[in-house]
Amino acid sequence: MLHATRRLLLPLLAAVACLLLVGTARAETTPVEPYASYQPQTACAPKAKPGTVALGHWLVRTYGGGFGRISETCRGRSVSEHKEGRAFDWSLNALKTGDRTRAQRFLRAAFATGPSGEPAELARRMGIMYVIWNDHIYASYDQFRVRAYRSSSCKTLATCSNTLRHRDHMHISLIRPGGAGRTSWYVGRVPAARVRQATGSSEASVSPQASFQPSMSLAGRSPGPT
Ligand SMILES: [Zn+2]
Repeated sequence: MLHATRRLLLPLLAAVACLLLVGTARAETTPVEPYASYQPQTACAPKAKPGTVALGHWLVRTYGGGFGRISETCRGRSVSEHKEGRAFDWSLNALKTGDRTRAQRFLRAAFATGPSGEPAELARRMGIMYVIWNDHIYASYDQFRVRAYRSSSCKTLATCSNTLRHRDHMHISLIRPGGAGRTSWYVGRVPAARVRQATGSSEASVSPQASFQPSMSLAGRSPGPT
């Protein structure tokens, strides 16, 4: 009986392993997505999207730190991708060397030139729209160049809370396809059925994609993403 179970189980495990390998290989050979344009939150759909969940767990598993929040209630007028379930707050403490190193390791990997020769390959495959960490922003529509960031709720940095300065977490906003798990990095990480489900629910309720206005400063939005 035990042998019979093992005879059935081993090929099954081998098949699962093959599927995972094929998924990863396919992700690496798919062309890298272009730099994402600015897609601000327009709908109230705070349920965590599957790509956001996969990215959050991967970050914690790979680098450490804590799984912060994804969803945010739709109260208030602030624009926040948390209200569409496509922003992840990675709990890290910028005052601790270990956490600063974790953040640097991820940012370096995300914005590095990848195996395809494309810059910021990982970030683009993940569908990252912008990252805010420790008073700085890295936006896809600015080729992830580092810029100083200050929340419009803060008159000066000295009077600004660690949360608004993004010193107790790293904020990562994804474009809608990233949140839905539809860009290449999520192949083999998010089941196809969940991708279809998330794509249907997020795209039915949003207005056409907004294009980024260079004059529109993220720091000028009120109160700014947290
Ligand atoms: Zn956030």
